[in-house]
Formats: sequence, C-alpha cells, structure tokens
Amino acid sequence: MAQRSITIVGAGQSGLQLGVGLLDAGYTVRIVSNRTPEEIAGGRVSSSQCMFGQALAHEAKLGLDLWPDAPTVDGIGFTVAPAEAPGVKAIDWAHRLDRPAQSIDQRVKFPAFMEAFVQRGGELVFEDAGVEELERYTQESELVLVAAGKGEIARLFERDAERSTYDAPQRALALTYVHGMRPRDEYSAVAFNLIPAVGEYFTFPALTVSGPCDIMVFEGIPGGPMDSWQSLTPEQHLANSLEILKTYLPWEAERSSDVRLTDDLGILQGRFAPTIRRPLATLPSGRTVLGMADVVVLNDPITGQGSNNASKCAASYLNSIVAHGDLPYTREFQQSVFERYWDYAQFVAGWTNALLAPPPEHVLNLLGAAGVVPEIAGRFVNGFDFPPDFFEWFMDPDSAARYLDSLQGAALPQA
Ligand SMILES: Cc1cc2nc3c(=O)[nH]c(=O)nc-3n(C[C@H](O)[C@H](O)[C@H](O)COP(=O)(O)OP(=O)(O)OC[C@H]3O[C@@H](n4cnc5c(N)ncnc54)[C@H](O)[C@@H]3O)c2cc1C
Repeated sequence: MAQRSITIVGAGQSGLQLGVGLLDAGYTVRIVSNRTPEEIAGGRVSSSQCMFGQALAHEAKLGLDLWPDAPTVDGIGFTVAPAEAPGVKAIDWAHRLDRPAQSIDQRVKFPAFMEAFVQRGGELVFEDAGVEELERYTQESELVLVAAGKGEIARLFERDAERSTYDAPQRALALTYVHGMRPRDEYSAVAFNLIPAVGEYFTFPALTVSGPCDIMVFEGIPGGPMDSWQSLTPEQHLANSLEILKTYLPWEAERSSDVRLTDDLGILQGRFAPTIRRPLATLPSGRTVLGMADVVVLNDPITGQGSNNASKCAASYLNSIVAHGDLPYTREFQQSVFERYWDYAQFVAGWTNALLAPPPEHVLNLLGAAGVVPEIAGRFVNGFDFPPDFFEWFMDPDSAARYLDSLQGAALPQA
C-alpha cells in the first residue's frame, strides 16, 4: 500500500516534532515553513521555552534530545514580593523537580529539528501559507495540519467562546536574554517572583545561539508599572528590565548586577489574549484542515506551558493518527484527534487562566504552607510537569482543605 501523505503548516515545536514522529512511523510528510533555518537562527527570540520532564521525554523518544550538555533547570523557587515593601519576601521557598527541565532557544532548536526532519526523509518547503496554499495542500495530501503558532493563519480557526476564559491580553510580556547572571545558590531553578497587583518575574538558565545564558521573563499587569516595554531600543529594554528588578526584587537585581544582552535580538515584547479555538477550519472548497498546539490552545506564558503543550499535542496527535491506520481522515476523526488532546490541555488552560487572576485565599494558604511543608512545595513544583494534578488539591478550596488535612494526618506520630 502507498504511504499515507500528510502536510503540516508550521515548522515550530509541535509541527517539527509531529513531522519527525510521522516519518519514523512510515508516513510521507511535508512541512511548510515561512522562515528558513537561517532566518530563524539569525532572527529574534520568540519564547523562553522551558520544557519539563514529560515533554522532554517525548522529544527524547524521537531522538530529538540533541543538547545533552545544555544547562538544566533542577527546581523551582517561589517568592511573593509585596510592591509596597521592597526587599520583603512575604513567601519564599524552593524545591527540586523530580526530573530536570531544559530551555533550548528556539533559534537553536528549530533549525536543528528541521535538519533532522530532512535527514529522515521529510520534505521541507519554504512558503508563507494562506488559504490558497491550504486548498492546494488538501488536494495533494490526505491530511493537512496547521501548526503555525501565533501566525495570522490561526485566525482561520474560529474562537471557541465557551472554552476561552478571556477575550483580552492579561499580561504585557517581555523577554530579556542575558549573559553574566550569577547562579542561584545550591541548584539551578526557575526563580519565580510574584509582585501582587504589578505582575510576575521569572528567570532560569538556558542555551542560546551564543551559548549558556539566562532568560528573564516579565509578565506585567496591563496598564501597571511593569507594562513599560513598547518602543525601546535593546539598551533601553535591558535598562528597563534592571530598573524593575531594583524597584521590586532587590535580590534579583543583585544576581543581575553584571548582565549584558546575549544579542540585540535577544529581547521581545508583546501581548496576546489566551484563546481556545475550534479545531477544524473549513476552506472555501468545503475541505477541512486540523489545527494543533498554539493554533487551537493558546495560553499565557505565566505557567511556562506552551512548548510543553506543543510537545504533548504532537505526541497525542501522533498516537491518534497511527492508531487510525488506513481509515479515512474524516471530519469526525479530525475532531476526535483534538478532543483527545483537549482531555489533557483543558487542565493546563484552566490552571494557567486561574494563575492570571488575583490568588484566592486557599491558594495563598497553600503557597504559604509550602514554605514549611516541603511535600506541598514538591507537589506544586512537579505539577508544572503534569498540571492536571493541580485539580486534585490546588484549584478549589474543598480539595485544598482535604489535602492539608491528609498531610496533618500523615504527620501525626504513629501510636
Ligand atoms: C514570552 C513568551 C515566553 C514563553 N515561555 C515559555 C516557556 O517557558 N515554556 C513553554 O513551554 N512555553 C513558553 N512559551 C510558549 C511557547 O513558545 C509556544 O507555546 C510554542 O512554541 C508553541 O508551539 P507551536 O508548535 O504551536 O508553534 P511555534 O513553535 O510558534 O511554531 C510555529 C511556526 O509556524 C511558522 N508559521 C507561522 N505562520 C505560518 C504560515 N502561514 N506558513 C508557514 N509557516 C508559518 C512560524 O514561523 C513558526 O516557526 C512562551 C511564549 C512567549 C510569547
């Protein structure tokens, strides 16, 4: 029997990972990219792309764990820094991850994944796909997936008002890639700082085009003092980053006293509304294309889940497609491929959207208790690798109370 043919639009985290997986499973795969590897490698940073154990394992299973010597992120630290009392840490703790996380700059990763894809027999085409091109792909391939991230083409997929929590951006985002940050004591970690009513700042080690670096991520509440990134030169962007740290997080300013930008394109600013979209887009011809990863489930980066989701989406779609064998790729099948992924992704979206709102009392209690009960800190930290767990103990007051009770019971001396 002839090999089944699939076209994927978008050579990013999900498209490349799915493309390589499908090639290994014996499919004929074409990936369409609107950027060449050289353009990506020489372009602007697009993410902080920290990926946790499960997502990294999906890559490793396909032989895409190409950076064994890159810096690891071995834990997560959590600090609450009240804006009205600079220098005070209202909450402050850290815990190790069960498995290390890793961040490989997408400018490094995507060109390498493209090379692996081509080496394994994939066809890589450079084209900025629009409706006309999608029509052509649906005639040439049995299945067309759109993995174009935040690209314009995602708008072909209708926003799902029922599944979307917000209709406007919840944070002003900024990235600052630097060399020269002093490492944390003890072990490397995402140092996550929450400044109530102002925003969040987190930083962690990564690998970029010029070697090991640290990435600063700023999440400013729109209209607030951390929403201050527009129209800055690279030097001004770095100065603004350091000014925010000096004002609200002196301990982070201290670690960053000698930093310099990795490169002039190692900065990013912008904002977008977290959005869930319907998985199928119908073209003028009546044929359909199936969206994946950010195209259909776009989360704010506050919980660092987008690349993790993209990896898990690619793994889930691969399983669904392979399990479908030779059966036709009907609309119902395409819808079911998404719903299987949504069974997982809805929890990531729910948890991420909750963290964008001011924390309710039971969450503050849990995060405070994590400072004295390491088991709580450990569960919170490792939840980043599998967010559905938060719905067992974190997301609502009743399950939080039950969880705290169970810990007290466990801590009682045995008779
Ligand atoms: C500030 C910020 C920080 C982040 N930090 C993290 C983090 O720490 N951890 C984490 O897990 N996630 C993070 N993310 C999110 C993560 O980077 C994305 O969710 C992830 O890359 C999405 O993968 P994807 O495959 O959907 O799309 P992408 O990886 O964005 O790939 C899409 C590709 O499609 C191409 N494309 C677009 N339109 C077209 C077209 N018409 N034709 C052809 N090609 C096209 C693009 O050029 C791009 O290469 C962050 C995002 C931002 C903005």
